[in-house]
Order: sequence, then C-alpha cells, then structure tokens
Amino acid sequence: MTARIIDGKAIAAGLRAKVAAEASRLSHRHRLVPGLAVVLVGADPASATYVGAKNNAAQEVGFKVFDMRHSETLSEAALLAQVAVLNENPAVHGILVQMPLPAGIDAAKIIAAIDPMKDVDGLTPANIGRLAIGEFDPRRGLVACTPLGALMLIKEVLADTLAGKDAIVIGRSNQVGKPMAQLLLQENCTVTIAHSKTRDLASLCRRADILVSSVGRAEMVRGDWIKPGAVVIDVGVNRKTLSDGKTKLVGDVHYFEAMEIAGAITPVPGGVGPMTIACLMRNTLIAACMQAGLPPPAL
Ligand code: NAP
Repeated sequence: MTARIIDGKAIAAGLRAKVAAEASRLSHRHRLVPGLAVVLVGADPASATYVGAKNNAAQEVGFKVFDMRHSETLSEAALLAQVAVLNENPAVHGILVQMPLPAGIDAAKIIAAIDPMKDVDGLTPANIGRLAIGEFDPRRGLVACTPLGALMLIKEVLADTLAGKDAIVIGRSNQVGKPMAQLLLQENCTVTIAHSKTRDLASLCRRADILVSSVGRAEMVRGDWIKPGAVVIDVGVNRKTLSDGKTKLVGDVHYFEAMEIAGAITPVPGGVGPMTIACLMRNTLIAACMQAGLPPPAL
C-alpha cells in the first residue's frame, strides 16, 4: 500500500485564494480592510523568517499589515503597553505576538492581555476555554492556526466520517496538541493525548485511525506504529543531519516507512506548515467580520 500524500501546499493555496476573494468583497462592499499586527521581539532568525512569511501572506490576500519589530531589550511593561494600543486600534483586527519571547517576558501574561476578539492565534485563555467547553463555533471562533489547519487536512481525506474514529495526538502543547485534541473531540473522535511520560506509545498509536504528531523529534514515529490505512498528520519540523553532512527538514514521522502503511500522510515540508499561515489569514478575516458585526464567510 502506498499512502495518499496530502498536499498541504495546494490546499493552503486554495484557502488563501478564498480569503483573498472575501477580503476583496469586504473592501468593496463594506470598505473594510482586515488588519493584522505581527509583533516580533528580538532577532531570532527563525522567528524573523516566520514573521516575514506571515506578513507576506497577509499582504498577498489584501490585508493591511502592521509590522511591529522591537529589540530584545524591550521590557514586559512596554510589550504589554504595545498590546494595549493594538487592542484599541480599530484598524487592527488581529494581533499575533511571535513566540518565543526573550527571557524576562512572561509569555502567558502577554497572551492573556490580547483582546480575545483579536486573538488570531487562538491562544488566549478565553478562546482556549471556549474550545474546551465545546462552545467553539468553527465558522466564527478563533482557534489555534496549526491544529485548525491540521483538522482541515484530515477532513480532506475523511470528509464527514470522523465521528467514532480513534485518534491519537502526540504532544500536549497549548498551541498544537491540546487544541488539536479538543477539535477532534468536537468532531466526536475518541481521543488519546500522548506525551513524554506516556507508556507504550507505539501500541497506543497502532489503534489510531487518525494520528497527529506534534513533538519535535525527528522520525520518532516508525512505520510499525501505524495502523494500516490511518490518516497521519505530521506537525513536527526537525532538522536532520545526513551522512554527507548536509541537513534536511523531516517530520516526527518516518515518512518512507509510514508511506507503506498509512492511508494518507502529510509531507514535511509542504503539509501542515502552509496550512498554519493560511489559517492565520482565515482567522484574521473572521476576526475582522466579527468586529464589524458582519456574518463571517464560510471558510
Ligand atoms: P512543544 O511545546 O515543543 O512540546 C512537545 C510535546 O511533545 C510535549 O507535550 C512533550 O511532552 C511531547 N514529547 C516530547 N518527547 C516525547 C516523546 N518521546 N514521546 C511522546 N511525546 C513527547 O510542542 P509544539 O510547540 O507542539 O511543537 C512540536 C513540533 O511541531 C516542533 O517540531 C515544532 O517545530 C513543530 N510545529 C510546527 C508547526 C507548523 O506549522 N508546521 C507549528 C507549531 C509547531 P511533555 O508535555 O510531557 O513534555
């Protein structure tokens, strides 16, 4: 058996095109231009790359971008003040503070200061809480971009047949693992959340019709961990050194082993990553509609 490759790049491009069409409609009909503020503190090269990609994507779909960059000496109080100003700015509909923040700034405090209506990363306690108590409406709510994108990829394969499926989510981060598990639960899957203290992970994985891994360990999930025909979503992004000294990006899943047994699998790169950015655009558009009192488009 050779797994179907879930082409996250193409699916994300389709979503971004829909967002761009809706943004153009909002601008013509309602004179509303969605605004996204991306806040970067410090000069971490990976963070700068992510922020650049987010800003470019936002410009491409027709949003106004507020590119807020600060030196790593910025104080926590100054960052809180920046968030407060963005919360009050009616032209800003979405606020994203790029993580990680430099030592000395309490990330949880910064996240909690973001207006939940502008929380396009879906990380505020209010939005996480709404998801946890099942009050999240996927058409209107703001939920973390990576798990939302991962769920869209799962639905590309399983459509509306998720109910009753066994799902395992490996990793319990606030930005991926926990909201992923909640989204799958909301789809009526039977969900197992695994982490570094989980015993006999391989046999738990073997039961799963849907396997999502967000760990950050190269090729940890082997082919013989996977149930035949399972849908495998690989969130991990890891740099692996090859025998010739060169490096390449790999996921948490041993891709070539998994290809032999899974029913469908996301590649790394080109799977979940592009969906994360596309879902940030989707969330910003929805946030703009909510703040303007307009019905959100179905995206
Ligand atoms: P994280 O905060 O780094 O946490 C990693 C999780 O993996 C933790 O819950 C940890 O368990 C668990 N874990 C560690 N070792 C394990 C093991 N041997 N067996 C089972 N679980 C184990 O996670 P994250 O932020 O979700 O990131 C994970 C990976 O996804 C990284 O490679 C990151 O770069 C990537 N990522 C990609 C995207 C994208 O858009 N493609 C977005 C976000 C993240 P404990 O809780 O017990 O420590």
